[in-house]
Amino acid sequence: MTEKLGKFGDMPAGEFRRFGYQIVDQIADYFENIEQYPVLSQVEPDWLKGNLPTSAPEAGEDFADILGDVDRLIMPAVTHWNHPNFHGLFSTSTSSVGVFGEMFAAAFDMKAMLWRTSPASTELEDVVLNWLRQMMGLPAGFEGIIYDTASVSTMHAIAAARERAGVSVRDLGLSGRDDVPLLRVYCSEHVHSSIDKSVLTLGLGLRSLRKIACNERFEMIPEKLADAIEEDIEAGYLPICVIPTIGTTSTTSVDPVDAIADICEKYGIWLHVDAAYAGSTAIIPEMQPIFKGWERADSIVVNPHKWLFTPFDLSVLYCKDLNELKESFSLVAEYLKTSDASAVKNGMDYGIQLGRRFRALKLWFVIRYFGREGLIARLREHCRLAHLFASWVEASPDFELMAPVPFALVCFRACPAGVDDLNAFNERLMNDINASGDAYLSHTKLNGKFTIRLSVGSIRVEERHIEKIWKLLKGALATAVEAAK
Ligand SMILES: *Cc1c(COP(=O)(O)O)cnc(C)c1O
Repeated sequence: MTEKLGKFGDMPAGEFRRFGYQIVDQIADYFENIEQYPVLSQVEPDWLKGNLPTSAPEAGEDFADILGDVDRLIMPAVTHWNHPNFHGLFSTSTSSVGVFGEMFAAAFDMKAMLWRTSPASTELEDVVLNWLRQMMGLPAGFEGIIYDTASVSTMHAIAAARERAGVSVRDLGLSGRDDVPLLRVYCSEHVHSSIDKSVLTLGLGLRSLRKIACNERFEMIPEKLADAIEEDIEAGYLPICVIPTIGTTSTTSVDPVDAIADICEKYGIWLHVDAAYAGSTAIIPEMQPIFKGWERADSIVVNPHKWLFTPFDLSVLYCKDLNELKESFSLVAEYLKTSDASAVKNGMDYGIQLGRRFRALKLWFVIRYFGREGLIARLREHCRLAHLFASWVEASPDFELMAPVPFALVCFRACPAGVDDLNAFNERLMNDINASGDAYLSHTKLNGKFTIRLSVGSIRVEERHIEKIWKLLKGALATAVEAAK
């Protein structure tokens, strides 16, 4: 350490500056050279643990040494989500300006609980979410709140739905009561596991979740939903919430939200739309028809950290009446009472967290830097590349599409002639590619069939990356067919 800021102080400013420049250089190099790394980390479990001391250092260490260990120990154990050939799960879309947002947020370290403790965070959140709402074509009534993840957004929506149903769980809870019937939440059988987690977290129990069958396009069948609700009401149960998905996790199928909204309206049930993945594409004018009916929802979740170029984490819950959320969660301890409470919005009133990160900043950077036009162009390109890949699959006798491609995810499998066990064959194909580090694919099962998923969403992805994965697949297929002989 070259300069000291007093014995008990922080890292001296000069040192911070020096390492700060170095880290920005390092991150810029990382983004520039990311294709040199294997997409999936090649380390074995416990490799990192085995290379680190089991207890904390007694004396402070030189930051140069610590930084050196990022290269030596952390990098090998990183799975490179930003790699343009990361096609598993849903690709991440993180951009560099988003990283700047994270730097400032950490530096300010505001705990955005009260307007007073964080005017910038509180007001910027409102402004940015209003921009996003307009871009997505949602009516003015919708107001948003930022959480960490869609899992948490959805949990809050279901809690608000439960309060609206009039069972006073906020005050009375569920335990020790015999006056509360079984509460029901409805979703399709292709729903994200975060919905299951929400009902178990909220003490509703997994049995409260009723999964509705889908058609051959993996979309919830509204008639089956209506039947299920009728049957449940007949049995004395209380339906509280229906959760259609726009862009399911397995296949990105789209539940018929408009028809489902009719049913929710008829029975007075809260409609929560899970658009965590696909919601950002509502900013593309020609995609708007896919979202028909979502403006009738009581709440909608959209994840800019998934597909709007914003680093994890930033999930938005839009509510038609944000006050309903407030009524479920507002609780003001004496030490949090302020004289301006009626005049301002206090973030802590809308969820279980007290302190909240300054997340709006990175989204503000992203939206301003790319502009609506730039965001639309990038999302369109991802969809174009996915459709291009899908066209190759369709044209090949050795591969087949397994689901429609409404966004930028392609579900497909290899189906070479003469192979009996296609499930085992495709699993091996995928695992071989993943093990090579050249690309990363993930899978789902559709009607019992092992299905490979290719997600296109990196801000760095180009046509050549899609060509590369197609070539890898064809090569691996030829090898596997040869081996099977
Ligand atoms: C990714 C995803 C989620 C969960 O997102 P988190 O922010 O990681 O909790 C929920 N629903 C859908 C449809 C998703 O694609």
